[in-house]
Amino acid sequence: MALDDPHILKNPQTKLLIGGAWVDGVGGTTIAVENPYDGSKIADIAEATAADVDRAVEAAEAAFPAWRALAAHERGRLLLKLADRIEEEAAELARLEAIDTGHPIRDCLNLDVPRTALCFRYFGGMADKLEGSVIPVDAGFLNYVEREPIGVVGAIVPWNFPLMFTSWKMGPALAAGNTVVIKPSEITPLSTLRIGELMMEVGIPGGVVNIVTGYGHTAGQRIAEHPRIGKVAFTGSTATGRRIVEASASNLKKIQLELGGKGPNIIFEDADIPAAVAGSAFAIFHNQGQACIAGSRLIVHETIADDVLQRFTELARSIRIGDPLDPETEMGPLTSRLHQSRVLSYVDVAKEEGGQILTGGKPPEGAAYAGGCFVEPTVVRAKPGDRVAREEVFGPFVTALTFRTDEEALAIANGTDYGLGSGLWTQNLTRAHRFARALHAGMVWINTYKRVHPGSPFGGVGMSGYGREMGFEAMREYTQPKSVWVNVDAQIPPFYRR
Ligand code: NDP
Repeated sequence: MALDDPHILKNPQTKLLIGGAWVDGVGGTTIAVENPYDGSKIADIAEATAADVDRAVEAAEAAFPAWRALAAHERGRLLLKLADRIEEEAAELARLEAIDTGHPIRDCLNLDVPRTALCFRYFGGMADKLEGSVIPVDAGFLNYVEREPIGVVGAIVPWNFPLMFTSWKMGPALAAGNTVVIKPSEITPLSTLRIGELMMEVGIPGGVVNIVTGYGHTAGQRIAEHPRIGKVAFTGSTATGRRIVEASASNLKKIQLELGGKGPNIIFEDADIPAAVAGSAFAIFHNQGQACIAGSRLIVHETIADDVLQRFTELARSIRIGDPLDPETEMGPLTSRLHQSRVLSYVDVAKEEGGQILTGGKPPEGAAYAGGCFVEPTVVRAKPGDRVAREEVFGPFVTALTFRTDEEALAIANGTDYGLGSGLWTQNLTRAHRFARALHAGMVWINTYKRVHPGSPFGGVGMSGYGREMGFEAMREYTQPKSVWVNVDAQIPPFYRR
């Protein structure tokens, strides 16, 4: 590769951020980071171990009193400056994210980076908007409730949207006055590290944010069990979420979990079919299907199923797969080789279950795809009880199911243990609202899918986790109420009066 090749990153940050300094891990070991497009090594990052997490927690603890005491609007001002810097750096951040994750550059430029800036801006503005309350209590007494930061917050971020999820966790945590120890996935750590550099640059004090790049079973586990971390916010698999809850018992820390999903996306017979087909393709194929809210179950009324599935399959076949840095690319590689094989294993599961592969089910052919972790957009027709209709595949893999009545559609939609994102396409307003109420899900999209905004609560029910990101809900998650009683009339207590 030539040195001016856009696939080469010049001097990405590779160290740990602890107490405002970029440092090696205590063990001195590193982890190789690969470009999923061609398997080339793009960086060797410092490996954080449990000892590094301990150092990071100490730094975060030391920084907490001053950060908490800083006027809320001053904390907000720093986050607003950060949002501006992210926008100024948009092109480079997008390239970094595309190379590290395989996301198409057009998505990075149009979604990941602007949403990251918007999130920090929203919470920058929110910092001085979170109010306490005054409770009407007995005469002669004043009772007010303040919301206090928790202290040191641990954040564990997965590899599917590393840049955006870094902002989703750090935005509210910092606005509320907490200090943070964040662990990105070792598969995709580079954009979080770059955000760390920008944070230092805009003047966020050292120790307020600490970044530890290490493996989940070592550094992640230490965050989950650390006795002086007051809360852990986690996004990832349900299995790991459960391990984090178990580890958190050491000090009964607060836990917020944003886990998997098997999003039902229902197309009724009265839907605007071209809109439903395009929206449903975005629902599953955006980010190569590596999204917890993906509309991975396409549930279609049987009278329109042939038409919808034919259009949908044609659209899937037309998706431009390729180099994430090519502005024309609509689908890049999956983020790791391991994950590619995990997704492809579900094609075998579908075949064993008698599922019909309507398109895809394999890596694309040709020299252009040889080195990358690609999987073709895959559409499988299956039955509601099948594993591919119940388990999260987390790839460009949609399971098509059909229904006859609204009751059947609802039973299929609610027929998994998950409850995160869900969608429906209909012109019937009454039915739309009825379903919005009946769906077992944290989010419902009507005649659209996968819309998110920093003001709107994001999270799930059931095995999709608990707690909410975004909006005032997130500010409540990252704070705790303190109830203060004042004896305004200087009353002497009626009991034990002598
Ligand atoms: P994990 O849940 O293992 O990884 C998510 C994050 O948790 C990573 O940063 C990981 O670090 C960390 N982690 C792993 N083990 C621990 C632990 N014991 N304590 C603390 N942190 C830990 O997901 P996988 O990468 O293994 O993906 C498996 C499946 O999970 C996917 O196929 C998908 O179904 C689901 N998933 C869901 C996501 C979502 O957005 N809800 C995101 C990612 C995955 P490390 O990278 O070092 O393992």
